[in-house]
Amino acid sequence: MNIGISFNFSALIFSLLVAAVYFYKPRIASMENKIYKGLLLVSIFGCIIGVPTYFLVKSYPEMNFLTFLIPRVYLCYILSWVFLMTQYVLIISSSTNEKKVYQKSFKIFFPLYLIISFIIMILPMEYHNENGAVFTSGPNVIFTYIVSAFHILYWFISLIINYKVFKTKKCIPIISVFVLGTIMAIIQGIDPSIRLMTPMISFITMIMYFTIENPDLKLIKELNIAKEQAEKANKAKTDFLSSMSHEIRTPLNAIDGFSQLILEEEDIKVIKEEARDIMNASQNLLEIVNGILDISKIEANKLEIIDVLYEPEKVFADLVKLTKARIGEKSLEFRVNIAEDLPDYLNGDYVRLKQIAVNLLTNAVKYTKKGYISLNVSVVKKDDICRLIISVKDSGIGIKKENINKLFTKFERFDIEKNMTIEGTGLGLAITKKLVELMNGKIVVDSTYGKGSNFTVAIDQKIVNKTKVVPAKVEVVKKINIKNKKVLIVDDNLINLKVAARLLSTYKVKTEEVSSGFDCLKKIEEGNTYDLILMDDMMPKLSGVETFKKLKKTPGFDIPVVALTANAITGMKENYLKIGFNDYISKPIDKKELERVLKKFLNSK
Ligand code: ADP
Repeated sequence: MNIGISFNFSALIFSLLVAAVYFYKPRIASMENKIYKGLLLVSIFGCIIGVPTYFLVKSYPEMNFLTFLIPRVYLCYILSWVFLMTQYVLIISSSTNEKKVYQKSFKIFFPLYLIISFIIMILPMEYHNENGAVFTSGPNVIFTYIVSAFHILYWFISLIINYKVFKTKKCIPIISVFVLGTIMAIIQGIDPSIRLMTPMISFITMIMYFTIENPDLKLIKELNIAKEQAEKANKAKTDFLSSMSHEIRTPLNAIDGFSQLILEEEDIKVIKEEARDIMNASQNLLEIVNGILDISKIEANKLEIIDVLYEPEKVFADLVKLTKARIGEKSLEFRVNIAEDLPDYLNGDYVRLKQIAVNLLTNAVKYTKKGYISLNVSVVKKDDICRLIISVKDSGIGIKKENINKLFTKFERFDIEKNMTIEGTGLGLAITKKLVELMNGKIVVDSTYGKGSNFTVAIDQKIVNKTKVVPAKVEVVKKINIKNKKVLIVDDNLINLKVAARLLSTYKVKTEEVSSGFDCLKKIEEGNTYDLILMDDMMPKLSGVETFKKLKKTPGFDIPVVALTANAITGMKENYLKIGFNDYISKPIDKKELERVLKKFLNSK
């Protein structure tokens, strides 16, 4: 077989392979791809008709319909490829919108292409067999070459003008045409029977497969998803900030307003009333901050479930008391039904369990104007597992069907206009759901808009056999008698110093206050003695932890040091204890906590 025909066959196989890979892989919708698709199909078509052209001309020296048609179609194939390449050059060398350039050039070139193809079809053509090599010649062959030469000249000029294209790999197919075209001309000059036009066109088309921009679409898709997620997270953070600043402002407004009023008020009764309002607002503020802490802990996977032994009956009794306080003056009936077969002792995280129920009960109170709210606790026991089924029902405003799915998403609040006067952050249910999940439980909602809602939580807890319970050391409630004991308070914030000192003064404790770790060290170095040191951590230059470590190195130092800090995220308490602090109190100071610490360290002395 003629060497040219072998090349032709190989080109056909390779072109088919490239086409299979190209069409299988997802592509971007670019003009380059559009043109490349055309080039690929045209080059396959050329390989297919190149073979019969050769054999026909060789086997049928006399003109017939096929020998008339096929060689002309072959010329049209060359022309199609050249026209498509011109489109490609136009696109890569233009700096404006590719699509517009393509559409404009298509409008001009396509009719031109049709006219030229028509001329090729009607112009006369000759072919002859010379020493086994077949040659086609005649006006249409010359015409095709002239048209192609003009196109190639245009590519050349275009690339020279837009020389920047040389810096990109996009010019490689065009340069290949020049280089391979020259090589082909030399080879065919030596042996005209070697037909290389079709393989050359296929080869250049194959090269182009590697030069057209086809980024990995899968990667792009993944990147886009990641980008969307990042944008969503960013938006959530912005929403969070605006939501928080609003929520924080509300209690702050009350604290600020009532404080101003107290300063001008003489009547002690009114002052007490307003102080109570300040306390409520502070409590509210603390709840917001705790909510933020909880959600950030949950999101950072830092929230731990700490299982301890507890008495469920006491927990639910506490819940009832709390809810009654929440209902306050509101004319709501509170229906309570707690299972009588509740085990005496359970093992689980009762603090979080309580938080879940409090969130649901608080919402029921908040979103119910009249009627009732109910707390229903039932149990299902199996072996040593007790499933607590806590159901909180209300006859309140209810939730629209379309909002049920969004209910557990943070910052989602519904019927904003209707609920304008009801405080909330939209964090409660998001936290509740996460807590339930962390405790391997389930939460379901059933709500009818305008009629009421029913939230049911099911959580498994371990039953602890009463007989197994080691009776807890009954702490003898010591009467607090710490009068005249000496406490050193270390805090860089003057207000915090004042608050701590004032709270301690109610126990008739003597206090000294210093506003830095350095001053604390100085006091000890000077030989002052104390019964207890309350130490803030986040102080400039010398932190509480650093001060503590230095204190520990002081010979003979044995004063108990308690961390008193606003650094209240999960694990912090354990951290401070690990460092060696004797105990930990979080700010704002809970009076009960302070009393516990005072009893622990001062009473015994
Ligand atoms: P918050 O109450 O702080 O706004 P939550 O996450 O607890 O946040 O609740 C989200 C939203 O779900 C509330 O704003 C309210 O629109 C709706 N919702 C929650 N509980 C109830 C309920 N018992 N009845 C009606 N709507 C409720």
